[in-house]
Parts: sequence; structure tokens; C-alpha cells
Amino acid sequence: MTQIHECGGAILTGENEGQYDYCDQCSAYSYEGPVPSGTDKVANRKAWDDAAPRSPDGAPDEEPQCESGQWSGTQCSDTATTTIEWMPEWWRGTHAAAGSRGRWPVNGSIRSRVCRACADEMREAMGDWAQEVDA
Ligand SMILES: [Zn+2]
Ligand SMILES: [Zn+2]
Repeated sequence: MTQIHECGGAILTGENEGQYDYCDQCSAYSYEGPVPSGTDKVANRKAWDDAAPRSPDGAPDEEPQCESGQWSGTQCSDTATTTIEWMPEWWRGTHAAAGSRGRWPVNGSIRSRVCRACADEMREAMGDWAQEVDA
């Protein structure tokens, strides 16, 4: 029975100085044990060329993308390195009237993971309504 790899490809068995299992879709392979998943193709190719017994483990999660678009409406393509907690305009009146802005997340503020440049831009544009937080 054909095994299905995590990526959706089929696990097939090949011969190359011994039997090995490999995925016909992402090319991850292993001479022993399960075929690793999440494999980077370039790293995989290199491991194969180096006669490594199995594919390298999957790359770490993709770098988080800047989410400043939640505020600006324009997608930023940089990597997020910090978090900004900011109050949407439609909430500010409520909080100003109450004389207190409450606490995230129940106060309506939003936490966005953003790049350095966007963090500075947001803080400059929103003043007290935006602050950098550790997340
Ligand atoms: Zn696969
Ligand atoms: Zn950005």
C-alpha cells in the first residue's frame, strides 16, 4: 500500500546503493525510518549529493511577515521583528470618554507583528495610541 507523505506526495521506494524511501513530490528521502517532512529542496539536494542517510529536517517556520497592513491597509513585505499594540480609531473615542484605555485584548486594541520601520511609523502616526510590546 502506498504511503502518503505529509506534503501530499506518495512515498516510493528507490534503489541507490541500498533501498530508500522517498517522496515523489517534495523529494525528501530516508534510508531508514520515516521520511522527514518540510524539507527545503536545495538542502535536500545537497544532503543527497553528500550521501546523507536522510533528508535534512524541515526548515524552521517561515519568518513572520510584517502585519502593518492591518493598520495601513497596505501590505508590507518586510520581516516582522517587533509587536505594536495599537488602538483602532473607532475605539479611541470610547476610551477617551472613559478616561482609561483598558487592557489588551479586551479593550479593543490590536497587536500586530511588524518590522522596525513600520513600528516607528505607527508610533509616530498614532502617538499614545500605539506602543511597542514584548510578545
Ligand atoms: Zn513530500
Ligand atoms: Zn513593515
